[in-house]
Amino acid sequence: MNTPNHTITIDGSSGEGGGQVLRTSLSLSAALGVPVLVENVRGGRKKPGLLRQHLACVRVAAATCDADVVGAELGSGEVLFTPGALRPIQRVVKVGSAGSTTLVLQTALLPLALANGTSTLEIQGGTHNPWAPPFEALDLSFRPLLAALGARFELILARHGFHPAGGGSIHVTMHALADVTPLSLLERGAPTEHYVQTITSQIARRVAEREWDAARRVLAWPSEQWRNVQVEAALCPGNLVNVVMGFETITEVTTAFGERKKSAEHVGGEAARAARKYLEHDAPVGQHLADQLLLPLALLGGGTFRTSTPTPHFQTNVETIAQFLGDVVTVERHDEHDAIVTVRGRL
Ligand code: ATP
Repeated sequence: MNTPNHTITIDGSSGEGGGQVLRTSLSLSAALGVPVLVENVRGGRKKPGLLRQHLACVRVAAATCDADVVGAELGSGEVLFTPGALRPIQRVVKVGSAGSTTLVLQTALLPLALANGTSTLEIQGGTHNPWAPPFEALDLSFRPLLAALGARFELILARHGFHPAGGGSIHVTMHALADVTPLSLLERGAPTEHYVQTITSQIARRVAEREWDAARRVLAWPSEQWRNVQVEAALCPGNLVNVVMGFETITEVTTAFGERKKSAEHVGGEAARAARKYLEHDAPVGQHLADQLLLPLALLGGGTFRTSTPTPHFQTNVETIAQFLGDVVTVERHDEHDAIVTVRGRL
């Protein structure tokens, strides 16, 4: 493929080898104005190449900077992305499946924060997908930290979307960057609200009760700490359990999804055991949030946070970012449950 000068070539099968390598590369390319060629897109996955969710990521990233794109087709294993100037956008993005709206949003977020003005997006697809941040993790956990960094956005869950029908919708208003501040997240601070949230669509209330019961037994929380959301308007059945743990400086959300042949007790217990593990230690940043914070920190004002064991997604994101910005992330590991991550910011 003919590439423009200074194109960065990324091997999409490296590290985790999934969609994250592509998304991080697109965000960095758009935000920095540097062309990128991603080869072996999702080469580490059983079904490699662009799925609908990833194609939507390419398209929305291209819209943020008027990019020229080669290889923006379903199944494509190679994408050449040549960005132009960043600009605010107003647009409806249709993933066209139950693919994750939250991951599509995360691709566009930083380029839009750096564009000079307010953008509005409606993203249609899945809002609660296994293997992606559920809407609540994005809204309660990720969004306030971005605001602390200077990148403010508002989110509305207009309609839930579950696998396989999708049909969900999130509305986003992204503001231009203001008062860029480095992040310092070393302590959780005092606890605020903690609760178990069961979400069911077209599923008997009894399932939510059993999930709460299983979670309650693990966490030993009283019944005031249960919130049940019965979804009326979704296109298909869906079920998940979020455990929301608020603290002065951070909110952590652990999640488990219901699926066929998995009992309600299993789902409730799984979300609660992940929450208990988080509560047994005191590092503020959970494992998923840790990999998701690297990009905003590197593109904005940088900062330091404490987390537990860095995951393969974390390590892969460190390596992808390094290809564009050099070694801006350092990790000082204290023990299995405690590492201090420092990211040098660009601004
Ligand atoms: P693929 O089909 O290629 O695996 P993908 O595009 O869905 O891919 P990944 O590359 O695996 O994704 O990236 C998934 C992202 O979603 C990671 O940033 C991960 O931390 C995040 N994630 C997964 N589950 C959760 C969860 N329960 N809460 C918050 N974030 C999550």
